[in-house]
Amino acid sequence: MKIGIIGGGQLGRMLALAAYPLGVLPVFYEQTPDTCAGQVGPVIGGRFDDHEALAAFAASVDVVTFDWENVPVDSVRPLSGHARVAPPALALEQSQDRLAEKNLFTRLKIPTPGYAAVDSRDDLDRAIARLGLPGVLKTRRFGYDGKGQAVLRSARDVERGFTALAGQPLIYEQFVPFEREVSLVSVRARNGETRDYPLAENVHESGILAVSSAPYTDPRLARQAAKYVHRLQEAMRYVGVLAVEFFVHEGRLIANEMAPRVHNSGHWTIEGAVTSQFENHVRAIAGLPLGDTRPTGHSVMVNFVGRMPRRDVVLALPGVHLHDYGKAPRPGRKLGHATAVMPTVAARARVRRTLLSLRRT
Ligand code: AMP
Repeated sequence: MKIGIIGGGQLGRMLALAAYPLGVLPVFYEQTPDTCAGQVGPVIGGRFDDHEALAAFAASVDVVTFDWENVPVDSVRPLSGHARVAPPALALEQSQDRLAEKNLFTRLKIPTPGYAAVDSRDDLDRAIARLGLPGVLKTRRFGYDGKGQAVLRSARDVERGFTALAGQPLIYEQFVPFEREVSLVSVRARNGETRDYPLAENVHESGILAVSSAPYTDPRLARQAAKYVHRLQEAMRYVGVLAVEFFVHEGRLIANEMAPRVHNSGHWTIEGAVTSQFENHVRAIAGLPLGDTRPTGHSVMVNFVGRMPRRDVVLALPGVHLHDYGKAPRPGRKLGHATAVMPTVAARARVRRTLLSLRRT
């Protein structure tokens, strides 16, 4: 069994590392030559808009998946003539455009921040008149890790934010003064069976995930999140891992965005759940039985962004697992993470402080 992974970043790399033990062989398709997934599996080099090369790639594997949601939909859609494609191209399409995504949430009665499409300065003024300040102006496409967005709090921010982002389709969203951010990672099999991981609580710094702790125990919110995510999975006939990020505001969930792939807020599952999100994604797309998603303890995962801490220092910490993605350091780039799985919430809080201090050393 061979899976073709379009994109060769750290997510593809961790998918490959989960696939091998199942006897499933990964092969990557990537347009940047120096890819970190290439350290763990074969890479076919080619552009994401080279339909012929992609068709040949798809014809050489049993199932095609991706580790990046910005692969052009037009390149992915024809591949279903050559191999199974999972998650479906529809999920890519919906998540590539923040407006399409929010419209889908709204259609499925999943609450979102108030939002409006913005294509001109007039649109923005109308949106602000209707939705008020503060708000967040975001590019509809190609935004990730806080890139392509500006928080607007005053008239001066409006001018500056619009100037910085104008020239591409935008969306204006109400700013949600959230109590916390949580995410639900869920896997759906070809036969429609779903399994959910527990909620993770996430803290972002400068728009980039810094820390995830799981389980975040709130049975009412977990049930509500699962209901919303299952609606999305069913509407899209989804196969594979889907992650949805929510704000918690006044005790209620407000959906921020979804990712049609394995997700950074699910990295803790490698050591902290019976079956990791990566293994379950491979199982789902390969048509194999899903694995147990239950947590094995109280996990905390800390991202290393821009620079890695010293390996010997991290590995000297009892019970701490290091993941170095093998990437060249660059400001704002996710280079690795560390996870600890503890027996109690109190022990997790202690190790969280230690792991956070590694980000600063
Ligand atoms: P995004 O790329 O949309 O996931 O945004 C990255 C981070 O920016 C989120 O995880 C939030 O911490 C913050 N953010 C984005 N949109 C909003 C919003 N409408 N209200 C408050 N915070 C936001």
